[in-house]
Amino acid sequence: DKLGIALVGLGYYSTDLLAPALQQTEKCYLAGIVTGTPAKAEAWKAKYQIPDKNIYNYQNFDQIANNPDIDVVYVVLPPSMHREFVVRAAKAGKHVFCEKPMAPSVADCQAMIDACKKNKVKLAIGYRCQHDPNIQAVMKVAKAQKFGKVKMINSAAGYFDARTNHWKQNKALGGGVMGDMGVYALQGARLATGEEPVRVMAQASTTRPDIYKEVEETMMFMLEFPSGARAACQTSFGINMNYLQVNYEKGWLKLEPQSAYNGNKGSMSDGTVINFPIKSQQAKQMDEDCAALMNNTELIAPGEEGLRDIRVVEAIYKSVASGKTVTI
Ligand code: NAD
Repeated sequence: DKLGIALVGLGYYSTDLLAPALQQTEKCYLAGIVTGTPAKAEAWKAKYQIPDKNIYNYQNFDQIANNPDIDVVYVVLPPSMHREFVVRAAKAGKHVFCEKPMAPSVADCQAMIDACKKNKVKLAIGYRCQHDPNIQAVMKVAKAQKFGKVKMINSAAGYFDARTNHWKQNKALGGGVMGDMGVYALQGARLATGEEPVRVMAQASTTRPDIYKEVEETMMFMLEFPSGARAACQTSFGINMNYLQVNYEKGWLKLEPQSAYNGNKGSMSDGTVINFPIKSQQAKQMDEDCAALMNNTELIAPGEEGLRDIRVVEAIYKSVASGKTVTI
């Protein structure tokens, strides 16, 4: 039997990626929607045959507690809204999937984790790349010490965002490139080392101050890991870049792109090619997370993993504000 998923927030990611992926999933299906826009409810209802009883708005959402069709609530709203809807979903007794970045602050992340624990539901973060075998290959090299210790990492994730007046440019809604694309650059470094950074130094900048008034367009950050490995990372809403280069004592690995929806690929210094075909990252992510819920096994990226990134993101903003290296 498939688990029923309700998507909260029917914007770009729900519309273009998650709903189509839910047509391919084997362990779950699109059972319901939560939207503040009645016209979207009508369109989705027709397109995906969603019964009226499984359609909610932000006000009556809590009644989802009484709906046995919905097993999982997937929060796909701007980041500053994640906490409220994750907590409400947990209180309704539903398992929760939450998009990245988990929330604007560590305190928010902790409150979300606590609410899920208290209500005995599971919380997974939508880190689709951690379900991608091309990214998992990088983690395996570090774990096996295939080329010895990790020494130096270069990790980048960015694209040119031509939009104006979007929540990604709004501080109160959780905008800023660091939480958005920056977590992919950060994940590249964290997954390539299998370690948590202990010191960060960061610099924020913008080339379009008329659009990026409240938040950074570009962030460059350096990370120092307990083993001594160091990472130079960059993320931007103004630059097209997406790669991971890991240099070890005795070799190297490159991925480009490293966090695309598909086609992540690369190679290693010994000639090994990284190029695993994958049908839909999002379908694989939701199927694997639903299997973990069904079998009561570990999630690949639980709430704690989302919090680990936000802890670093907070330190990065502290470094920007102080102009100093920050110890985590
Ligand atoms: P979007 O702007 O396209 O959609 C946001 C949705 O939230 C819209 O349906 C909008 O109506 C709704 N909303 C409710 N209140 C709002 C408010 N006050 N301001 C703005 N929108 C409001 O955004 P998106 O690109 O779909 O991103 C949604 C979430 O998904 C974010 O957390 C984002 O980081 C994440 N995301 C993840 C990936 C990924 O690859 N994992 C890709 C894209 C987006």
